Amino acid sequence: MSIMFERVAFIGIGLIGSSLARVIRRDGLARTIVASARSTETLDKVMNLGLADRVYADPADAVRDADLVVIATPLSAYAEIGARIGPALAPGAIVTDVGSVKGAVIRDLQAALPKSVHFIPGHPVAGTEHSGPQAGFAELFDGRWCILTPLPGTDPAALEKLSALWRSAGSKVVTMDPEHHDKVLAITSHLPHLIAYTIVGTAPDLEDTLKSEVINFSASGFRDFTRIAASDPVMWRDVFLGNRDAVLEMLQRFTEDLTALQRAIRWGEGDKLEELFTRTRAIRRSIIEAKQA
Ligand code: NAP
Repeated sequence: MSIMFERVAFIGIGLIGSSLARVIRRDGLARTIVASARSTETLDKVMNLGLADRVYADPADAVRDADLVVIATPLSAYAEIGARIGPALAPGAIVTDVGSVKGAVIRDLQAALPKSVHFIPGHPVAGTEHSGPQAGFAELFDGRWCILTPLPGTDPAALEKLSALWRSAGSKVVTMDPEHHDKVLAITSHLPHLIAYTIVGTAPDLEDTLKSEVINFSASGFRDFTRIAASDPVMWRDVFLGNRDAVLEMLQRFTEDLTALQRAIRWGEGDKLEELFTRTRAIRRSIIEAKQA
């Protein structure tokens, strides 16, 4: 494939950033890849893994002369990063991110970025419970959705260029209003994580005999929740704080449905339970058919 960007700068290069860097390397999509992260340990790893040509402690040095900047840190770092890179950005650069919440990102970044850059927030809907640059792999985005949430007045050529990059990664690209994105993700991703954190968090509170049995017999459902509940604590803290309104709204509806189920069990209403479980089984089938399982 031919070069799409002269210099791509990753600000934060863990699971998601390094996976995209691997795609760019694999397909030769950039002349130079540079990166900045918080610790020298991560910067050393990035160089040893050959993910970047140069690394910088200061994000402002990384973005200088870059025509694509990808912010891939936890959401709570965005405001400070925006303030630091804003004055160093080259006019005409595309600035994007991979954060799991979009409303908060726009609030934290937009004001800090100069009008001369193309700011296009994004979210690849792909991931694992692992973190760090060693956890990434180029196939992570293959066949998965990438949601871009362009702001009114976004340059169509810049949007197309960023979309083409994600298509090279194997993603199916869709554009969405940021608020709509946050609602959709609240139900499909954020609420399931909250439920997993709750269920797995309850286990240590049980009395000792039950606790050891929970570990021994975890194959029967609990184990699947532990995988989700092993996700990065900082990332998920930021997701819930950043998407507070949508998560609370979905949680309210979930609580109502849970109460209805509780009632059906109490009153022996087997037909209601079976009807719901039949519907949910069909949803699982449609996800498999859509190749998103
Ligand atoms: P990760 O593997 O933990 O990597 C985070 C990166 O950000 C590291 O390079 C880290 O550097 C750097 N960083 C952390 N705090 C920083 C700061 N204050 N200033 C500068 N750099 C900082 O995280 P990830 O899983 O790739 O997630 C990154 C973003 O992708 C998050 O916003 C998340 O919402 C989004 N996302 C994640 C997933 C997923 O499943 N993981 C899926 C889709 C989107 P150090 O190592 O030096 O701390």
